Amino acid sequence: EVFTMIIVMNQNATKEQIDNVERKLLELGFKTHPIVGDVKTVIGAIGDKRLLNTHSISTMPGVESIVPIMKPYKLAGKELKQDPTIVEVGDVRIGGNEIVVMAGPCAIENEEIYVETAKKVKAAGAKILRGGAFKPRTSPYAFQGLEEDGLKIMAVAREVTGLKLVTEVVDTRDVELVASYADIIQIGARNMQNFRLLKEVGMYNKPVLLKRGLAATIEEWLMAAEYIISEGNPNVILCERGIRTFETSTRNTIDMSAIPVIKELSHLPIVLDPSHAAGTWKYVDPLAKGAIATGADGLIIEVHSQPDCALCDGQQSLIPSRFEQLMKELEPVALAVGRKL
Ligand code: PEP
Ligand code: MN
Repeated sequence: EVFTMIIVMNQNATKEQIDNVERKLLELGFKTHPIVGDVKTVIGAIGDKRLLNTHSISTMPGVESIVPIMKPYKLAGKELKQDPTIVEVGDVRIGGNEIVVMAGPCAIENEEIYVETAKKVKAAGAKILRGGAFKPRTSPYAFQGLEEDGLKIMAVAREVTGLKLVTEVVDTRDVELVASYADIIQIGARNMQNFRLLKEVGMYNKPVLLKRGLAATIEEWLMAAEYIISEGNPNVILCERGIRTFETSTRNTIDMSAIPVIKELSHLPIVLDPSHAAGTWKYVDPLAKGAIATGADGLIIEVHSQPDCALCDGQQSLIPSRFEQLMKELEPVALAVGRKL
C-alpha cells in the first residue's frame, strides 16, 4: 500500500540529521523529496506503509513530527510545500512577483515570418517565444507542423532575439529531440492524460508547461502534474486554456476560477492562455486582463505578423501592434494586484 507523508524536521535540526533521515527513508525504499523552507526543512516521502511500520523514523534525532498527506496529489499540493514554486527558465522566473508573458504564432511556418514575429513580441515585452513544430491537429489533413525544421527555426529566433522557447511535444519518441531545442516543453491539452508522455518529460530537468485537458477537472490536472514531479522534475507550470462546456460562442469556456483554486491547492505557478480559450482575437484582451487580476503568474498569447496567412489559429492570433497595446494595458492591472509586468 502506497503511503505518503511529510517528515517535519525540527527548526534547529542539523544538516546531518536531515541527511540521516533521508538516507533511512531511501533504505526503506521510499522516494524522497526534501524541501528546505525558510524556517524548517520537510521531507516528502512516498513508499510502502508496511515497511515503515517495522522501522521508526519518528524517534530519529531532529524529527519533529510525521504528517500523512491526505490529498491524492502529494508533491503538487500545498500540504507538502506552502511556498510558491518559482520555475526558472534561464534568467526568467515564473511564479514570482513578475508576470511573465509568452507569445508567438501557433505554429512555425517559415523562418521569415517567425523571426519577424519574434522580434516584435520581444520589443513589446514578451520574455518567452511560443510556437508549435509538432501540432496536434483535429484533422489528419491539416498542417501538422514542420517538426525538426521548425525547431531549427525556433533556435534561430532565439539566437536573434534572446527569447526563451516554449514548444509542444506530442509523442514520447520526440521528447529528447524537443528537449534539445526547447527551454520549456509544452504538454498540450489533448495530452494532459497521456501518462507515458508525462513520465517521459518528468525524467528531464526542463520546465514543463502543462495545459489543462479539454474536459479535465482541477484534480485530474494536478494529478497530471504529479506524474511529472514524481519522476523527479519539479519544474511544472500549469496553463488554463479553457474547457469544454455547453457554450458555443467561444472556442472553449475559460475557467477563470481555476486560478484562485489552483493558488489554494498548489504551490505551482499558473498561466492563462486566452487565445485557445477565446478562439477569436477579439476576446483575448479582456481575458488576459482578467487572468492577471485573478492572480495568474503569466500569459501565453498567440501573435502572428500575418494572421490572414497563418496555417493554424490565425483567427485567434493578435497582430503585433495589438499585442503591444495589450502589454501596455496589462501594466496597471498587474500593479493593481501588487505585481509587476
Ligand atoms: C497550442 O498551444 O498551440 C495548443 C495546441 O493548445 P491546446 O493544447 O491548449 O489546445
Ligand atoms: Mn494554436
